[in-house]
Amino acid sequence: MKNIAVIGAGTMGNGIAHVFAQNGFQVNLVDISQASLDKGIATITKNLDRMLAKEVIDQGTKESTLGNITTYTDLKDGVSSVDLVVEAATENLDIKLKIFKDLDEICEAGTILATNTSSISITQIGAVTQRPDKIIGMHFMNPVPIMKLVEIIRGYNTSDMVTQTIMDLSRKLGKTPTEVNDYPGFVANRILMPMINEAIETLYNGVAGVHEIDTVMKLGMAHPMGPLQLADFIGLDVCLSILNVMYDGFKNPKYAPCPLLVNMVMAGKLGIKSGEGFYDYSESRKAEHVSTQFK
Ligand code: NAD
Repeated sequence: MKNIAVIGAGTMGNGIAHVFAQNGFQVNLVDISQASLDKGIATITKNLDRMLAKEVIDQGTKESTLGNITTYTDLKDGVSSVDLVVEAATENLDIKLKIFKDLDEICEAGTILATNTSSISITQIGAVTQRPDKIIGMHFMNPVPIMKLVEIIRGYNTSDMVTQTIMDLSRKLGKTPTEVNDYPGFVANRILMPMINEAIETLYNGVAGVHEIDTVMKLGMAHPMGPLQLADFIGLDVCLSILNVMYDGFKNPKYAPCPLLVNMVMAGKLGIKSGEGFYDYSESRKAEHVSTQFK
């Protein structure tokens, strides 16, 4: 496997392209938006410069990494002769199903089609293609160049051979792949999101304040970030959407999103990306100031 396409040059897509390219793969980075491609390449360059300054890589590695990436706005041009596609486009069911139908028509029969989705069923994506045995989840964590885990999700029809190939490939990227089955939330979000939801519920019930809840989990459980800070980092809209996928998928009230989370999303308080969530980010992105709502 040498030629890879990454679909989507946003937060995750540029990180995935970076990691493949740095490990010697030829990467076609595809996005419908030229502005996203430009921003993606700028982010990769900035991250390589940071690694260069810390002497994690040398100048040659920076140049070869950037040289291994070619950008495309046309899907057909970008994916027609690759061995693997990793899709990291916007988390929206209709967008993903359309992309996979198109990929199935354009790509060679042997091409493996992976998705970085956080919450959409791999089995459902596989069902819109003629190759459900070659559809697999490759769930990288943010920031991709730093985080070691790749959650490898087997759809109902994913073959053993494809799973093995993607497990081996992830190791070649210096990552630790972990195989899981395709049920709502997979493993990472199935465990993380109820914890975040419970932290919000604890705040909502007045048991403790934002700072207190995060401090208990940071200092008491050795978590690098408290759950409310982490929710702001992920995006409260993203947390709500993943909880809803689990609530709908399991029909179990234990996954019901806390009404405070629902209200905050409706009010446009989405965390770091909107400037305010449980913390106020107008002065710093470091979650130093609790939002005035919770003081
Ligand atoms: P993002 O919004 O930063 O980027 C999405 C990109 O997809 C945009 O550049 C957009 O122009 C592009 N796009 C939209 N439709 C497209 C199409 N039809 N063809 C090509 N490109 C298209 O999103 P993100 O945060 O990078 O998330 C991407 C995927 O990764 C989602 O499935 C998400 O669930 C998953 N994910 C995100 C995180 C995270 O922390 N952000 C973590 C793990 C997984």
